Amino acid sequence: MGGSEIKPKRLQNRDMNPELTVDDNRFRRRFERFNEIGATERDGVDRPSLSDTNKEARDTLVEWFADAGLAVTVDEMGNVFGRTDGTVPNEPPVLFGSHVDSQYNGGRFDGVIGVLGALEIIETLNEENVQTQRPLEVVAWSNEEGVRFQPDMLGSGVYTGTFDRGYAYDRTDKDGHRFGDELDRIGYKGDAPAAGDPHCYFELHVEQGPYLDENECSVGVVEGVYGFSWLNARFEGTADHAGPSPMHLRHDAMVATANVVTGVRRLTAATGTDLVGTVGSIDVSPNSINVIPETVEFTIDLRSYDNAVVDEAVSQVRDEIRWAADRENVAWELEEIMRVDADPFDTDCIETVARAAETVGAPSMRMVSGAGHDANYLNDVCPTSMIFVPSVDGVSHTEDEYTAWKDVVVGTNVLLQAVCEKANEE
Ligand SMILES: [Zn+2]
Repeated sequence: MGGSEIKPKRLQNRDMNPELTVDDNRFRRRFERFNEIGATERDGVDRPSLSDTNKEARDTLVEWFADAGLAVTVDEMGNVFGRTDGTVPNEPPVLFGSHVDSQYNGGRFDGVIGVLGALEIIETLNEENVQTQRPLEVVAWSNEEGVRFQPDMLGSGVYTGTFDRGYAYDRTDKDGHRFGDELDRIGYKGDAPAAGDPHCYFELHVEQGPYLDENECSVGVVEGVYGFSWLNARFEGTADHAGPSPMHLRHDAMVATANVVTGVRRLTAATGTDLVGTVGSIDVSPNSINVIPETVEFTIDLRSYDNAVVDEAVSQVRDEIRWAADRENVAWELEEIMRVDADPFDTDCIETVARAAETVGAPSMRMVSGAGHDANYLNDVCPTSMIFVPSVDGVSHTEDEYTAWKDVVVGTNVLLQAVCEKANEE
């Protein structure tokens, strides 16, 4: 009697397989171990882009990718890839992942679950002897957060041709360190060109808003990302002594600004749409307790999933600024410094995620993202969608960020099903 030959099992069709699930314990051990790197006293992590802790996180990833049998590549932007072969040679891969750079004193889940979840999927498929038709490629993008080097999402931005490499290398942090030099310093300026031709892209990420938590859903099927307008505004009045200047003779740039700040809040409440608006940065001069403010420069961030709503909001903010300037008799300027249209994801990828959630039995809801992600840039070059898991109380970008582990696992199982389906399609 001959020994039975162990054959690799293969997924032959697009049917999803609910029996296939990730290993909760292995995944959790990895997650805890990974977040010892740059751990803060208050249960967060401090691994800003190209810092020493970010290097350590990358080193750990590279080691784990290799241990899982992945062929590791670091491209010229420091994006880290790990790839498996498919059964059909030379097919474009299914790409999935996220980022492992963090905010200063940021959370443990943001980005990390998308990368370690991707690795856990590879381990699961290895263990079950599942080989997909297309290659699978997991990725950790460089500089997603944009806290140390602006703009954010530099790694995926160069990969997709949104930025050129020279522009990215020349970004500097507040101490004047160049992105390119820091990449070199930590040993992650790779040789591979930052470019690729994936079959599709999926990203698992924490929601960073309250909707899944409020609706007690484990999974968000993300249909797209809000568009936005960034405005720079400026009022110029007259500086004068805060004592002898009678109120009726003042031209106070701060009073005009205050009108606009509350105007933006009124506007968002009045439209009955999904519009959100924020005055997030104010620079007042001379900024002195006993001098009437002469100039104020401030920013306005307006977002909606409907581009027409953003258009209308910009024009209403312009009116608010003009009226405020008239009332206070100050000069005004308004400039739109950035406009990004709403970004609907690929219908087929969205439906794949929805089916995957159903297969896994995860309570899910459809939603759009208020925050930008690497997935936005990927959506320009290949079919893309995202999977969200709940952020408790909607909190992120702080050490208090928290997602229940069971939701991380459910979200990863949804990603697993979606990846397998796409990796077995023509
Ligand atoms: Zn993130």
